[in-house]
Amino acid sequence: MEDRLSIPFIDLKSQYSRIDSRVKEGLDRVLAHGAYVMGPEIAELEKELAAFCGAQHALACSSGTDALLLALMAKNTGPGDAVLTTPFTFCATAEVIALLGATPVFVDIDPETFNIDPDSLKLAIQALRSADPDVYPLPSQAKAAGEPGKGPHAPSSMPHAHLIPKGLISVDLFGLPCDYEAINPILEEEGLWLLVDAAQSFGSSYKDVSPCTLGDTACTSFFPAKPLGCYGDGGMCFTNDTSLHQVLESLRVHGQGKNRYDNVRLGLNARMDTMQAAVLLAKMSIFPEEIELRNIVARTYNDFLQEAQDITVPSFFPDRQSAWAQYSVLARDQEHRQTVFDSLKENNVPWSVYYPLPLHLQDVFSYLGYSSGDFPVSEEMSKRIFSLPMHPYLKQSDQEKVARAVVEGSRR
Ligand SMILES: *Cc1c(COP(=O)(O)O)cnc(C)c1O
Repeated sequence: MEDRLSIPFIDLKSQYSRIDSRVKEGLDRVLAHGAYVMGPEIAELEKELAAFCGAQHALACSSGTDALLLALMAKNTGPGDAVLTTPFTFCATAEVIALLGATPVFVDIDPETFNIDPDSLKLAIQALRSADPDVYPLPSQAKAAGEPGKGPHAPSSMPHAHLIPKGLISVDLFGLPCDYEAINPILEEEGLWLLVDAAQSFGSSYKDVSPCTLGDTACTSFFPAKPLGCYGDGGMCFTNDTSLHQVLESLRVHGQGKNRYDNVRLGLNARMDTMQAAVLLAKMSIFPEEIELRNIVARTYNDFLQEAQDITVPSFFPDRQSAWAQYSVLARDQEHRQTVFDSLKENNVPWSVYYPLPLHLQDVFSYLGYSSGDFPVSEEMSKRIFSLPMHPYLKQSDQEKVARAVVEGSRR
């Protein structure tokens, strides 16, 4: 199996070799001052990343999931609230909605971007307002009523009429920003808030601005495999709303008020540790360049894969730059994808599937009562999609080897 890893899927070692002295100096400083929790590097990082995105405020926290949870808590999300989102994402996006007792309402995606489809979003809101699942598939939680263990907060009352749409969690999947120029007017007209799940898109841009500035709040993740990763778990919330930022600060430390022993709301212990902030500060020195390199890698793949049969490569958009958290392509169908996987295996090339099962078909969300066929694009993509090795230090010769294995498999 060692040989299979000859081309790593992501390569954090090459990155570390560029910044090792800076990382060690940063960690040494933390060890010297000893403020392991909320040390000075936290505020320094928040200031630097807020400036990087053009956001007014940034709040460092313990993970991307906790960032989403904090943002939803700051919006007082709870039972009876419908929060719209995509079923074609990592489970954390919908998990946080359900954890607060609110209801995830899924909206299908655009097959070209893998991001939420604005026309479907309109329909889903209309369906919620009229409590009419004939307009667009809605959760039918009634099916789960009285079923123990199915969904921690599955309400026992009748479903549709009680769900009030509150906001949308958009996901910039694989690093590509959503179509915010289409999405934001829909939300404004409906009086809904926007939370941008930028866990994969930190470093991307939409019409020259960061998607982290395009919602009421935005959240990102510094999980090691994300475009900007730390050496453990970490996350961040961004907002231009000063009072919301103050609430987030309080929620991050047990709902703290004026001082440590004044508690004004229920909160979390969701702080980022100072060591991770030091690592991220070191990585920021090369991050913009890494985004450029990822874009070159993606373009090179697209060129090499022109020879492939019935493989759809990702689109480039003149008004957006992806952070290329993943480079994902589509096979013709599930069978075709399997022949490509066989070839990749024979050639010791690693691959991944994001995501093999859309969230509405996962056991954890079965209490919502969605069925197969409710979100046909997400379901089809999950059968055809796969991701190839992607990182800033991928050599052209390795890309050629990866692409050759895809081309060969696609033509069998
Ligand atoms: C990674 C990821 C998260 C969660 O981030 P963690 O830091 O792992 O908690 C949330 N949403 C999306 C889309 C992600 O890719």
